[in-house]
Amino acid sequence: IFSLVERAAADPILGLTDAFKADKRTNKVNLGVGIYKDESGQTPILKSVKMAEAKLLSEEISKSYLGMEGVLAYNTAVQGLLFGEAHRVIQDKRVFTAQAPGGTGSLRVAAEFVMRHTPVRTIWVSDPTWANHQNIFSSAGLEVKQYRYYQAQTHGLDFEAMIADLSSANIGDLVLLHGCCHNPTGIDLNIEQWQQLADLCLEKSLVPLFDFAYQGFGEGVEEDAQGLRVVANTVPELLVANSFSKNFGLYNERIGAITVVGNDETQASNSFSQIKSTIRGLYSNPPAHGGLIVSTILADSGLKALWLSELQEMRERIGQMRTLFVQSLKAHGVTQDFSFISQQNGMFSFSGLTKAQVEQLRDEFGVYIVGSGRISVAGMTKTNMPVICKAIAAVLAV
Ligand code: PMP
Repeated sequence: IFSLVERAAADPILGLTDAFKADKRTNKVNLGVGIYKDESGQTPILKSVKMAEAKLLSEEISKSYLGMEGVLAYNTAVQGLLFGEAHRVIQDKRVFTAQAPGGTGSLRVAAEFVMRHTPVRTIWVSDPTWANHQNIFSSAGLEVKQYRYYQAQTHGLDFEAMIADLSSANIGDLVLLHGCCHNPTGIDLNIEQWQQLADLCLEKSLVPLFDFAYQGFGEGVEEDAQGLRVVANTVPELLVANSFSKNFGLYNERIGAITVVGNDETQASNSFSQIKSTIRGLYSNPPAHGGLIVSTILADSGLKALWLSELQEMRERIGQMRTLFVQSLKAHGVTQDFSFISQQNGMFSFSGLTKAQVEQLRDEFGVYIVGSGRISVAGMTKTNMPVICKAIAAVLAV
């Protein structure tokens, strides 16, 4: 049977990393995948994580299975981070959370749950969106439709078009929303726009599915959750798939969570029972280590404060790289206006570079960015900045 199998196309983001690794040039730069690098070009383990791991190693007494929903203290801590401890949905016991393998695993569990236990068959995603969304949702059997989001001319949000497209969605359709630091554009809604969108979801009975992979990379942990909290204040039902890959630097621990908010405690609890049953059929129960690290940090005020300061350091370094990138492009003779890059949030900059320019950057200069023109600012350093800007200036001059 395997003779019938055709070769898969390279993944648009991870495939780039493979090509980068195979590249023999010494001054190559990988700005493809969204991985945070410090000034020395390393992806460090956070001190708060190392300290939590040391504690876990000395105190752990069993490797027995977790339940389908994972570490219970973790799930409660996740809800506090997402909604704030005193949020209505927590007080009304309308929210349930299961630990899941990364943001990707959480999104897939959400999609499988919806397919198996609701009549909904359609999800709306922004145009553009993270390249893996289409794969995750269509693998689960959902039809993926796009709503307009980005306006190329202004390098900004086309909110009117977004609302117009979502107004044509059917009752119950899922709407994928990036909680903050929209990937790939780095452009987020303001609070008034979140409220308007929440009102539309309420009016049309649309169900928001938040993809929250960058909490703390925009303006701060609390600030970045405002959109989610506004929506949760307005609509009766929603799902959240969050990830701690980036904000705890736990990429390879595969740690995230799927959270369901229901109309009332019974509906939320029934839905959660089916989410657990979905998990049972997919991977039975999650790996423990990542959940234990995060719950250990969030339960200890000293470790939590350290984590918040490390997160702030990452956020501020990326902010500095944005400013330096804009300045350096100018210094390398680029006359085009790239100032919009300093307005974008999160790890990425949506540069507006064309596919041909992206290919030229890779082939001639060893600078790897995603075909859409998305650049991982989190991979820039003071050292590689001149290489990057010289290459971009050269391809723009053609
Ligand atoms: N959603 C978005 C928008 C992302 O950018 C990413 C990671 N690149 C994920 C989800 C997946 O996160 P994880 O690595 O935790 O699966």
